[in-house]
Amino acid sequence: MTHSTATTPRNCWIEISKSALHNNLVAFKQLLQPNQQLLCVVKANAYGHDAQMIAEAAMEFGADWLGVFQVEEGVLLRKAGLRAPILVLGPSFGEQFQIAAKYELQLTIPSLESINNYTSNLPSTNVPIHLKLETGTNRQGIRFEELEDVSKIILSNQLSVQGAYTHYADIEDTTDHDFATSQRLQFENSIEKLNSLGINIPFPHTACTAATILFPKTYFQLVRVGIGMYGLWPSKETNVSAHTLGRAQIELQPVMQWKTRITQIKQVPAGEFVGYGRTFRTTRKTTLAIVPVGYADGYSRRFSNAANTLVRGTRARVVGRVCMNLSMIDVTDVPGAQEGDVVTLLGTDGDETVSAEQLATLADTINYEIVTRAAPGAPRIWV
Ligand SMILES: *Cc1c(COP(=O)(O)O)cnc(C)c1O
Repeated sequence: MTHSTATTPRNCWIEISKSALHNNLVAFKQLLQPNQQLLCVVKANAYGHDAQMIAEAAMEFGADWLGVFQVEEGVLLRKAGLRAPILVLGPSFGEQFQIAAKYELQLTIPSLESINNYTSNLPSTNVPIHLKLETGTNRQGIRFEELEDVSKIILSNQLSVQGAYTHYADIEDTTDHDFATSQRLQFENSIEKLNSLGINIPFPHTACTAATILFPKTYFQLVRVGIGMYGLWPSKETNVSAHTLGRAQIELQPVMQWKTRITQIKQVPAGEFVGYGRTFRTTRKTTLAIVPVGYADGYSRRFSNAANTLVRGTRARVVGRVCMNLSMIDVTDVPGAQEGDVVTLLGTDGDETVSAEQLATLADTINYEIVTRAAPGAPRIWV
């Protein structure tokens, strides 16, 4: 993990906007009732934004919980001094149960097997657990038929159940939310069943970003917001649905910008090739700029001959193939471009923007993957 105070920017760096993060957190908080809580998902190094920086700021801006994928991520946050309730969203095994107890992390129990595993490795102090309930995604989850067995194990071992939750399969992939609704109803049945078996659930929760934007009925006691906190919409479909459902007032501001510098400028006559595979040939006298970022930094090879970058507020396209650590851009139409100029790979410069969605389209993926894989080794800097 890198820190806000770190370093002179090197080959490339990631700028993290504190005001954008603040704006997004406040926007989500405002959707909730006073008795409902906000869990900020900071797994995968906060979707590439830096888990410690984001967790600290999110708590300052009113988050109630933090969500990580595995125990070790929670330990790092505890060692950094974060005191919030932390829920581990992924599975845990063996000695991780003891570590979770020591660092006061809350664990997800995603199956009948895992609750048996948990009770046979039972830590000395009680770890609050959240039951992950299967409602149709068929990823992690306890099936409805298994709830009786699970309840017996909970009662006989006096386990501390703090929550129960589920995750929607396609709430951001479509404007038809019938399946998501069926999942919510199945979740409600499961909670009733658990109650009837003598298991009280203080924190039922189901909502990710898309559900939080679209459907207050999915909130229960807690919402788990990831991508929206980083200022990105989960999908175009979610944006369309928000407009049709009258839920589009929320204004999200992207938190991440990814920047580098021109390391070399060269003049190339018309008719010359550029880069590996000779996939680009100049058709005019061309000013090329070399930037020290490539696919090893998460700048996808799919951006070859396709992505725009921004230099001096003007678009400059990648020409030739993106290399492992270098790329070439055409700055012929950028007046005054010179070595040392900042190049925006993701973000805004003047009137121009390169969005995570544009890059995702080129790489045949989603905005989540673009930010999560952006320059893992590069410093993250508050702006
Ligand atoms: C990652 C994750 C989320 C956050 O989803 P977003 O679409 O980024 O808001 C919520 N819940 C669970 C269980 C997750 O794993």
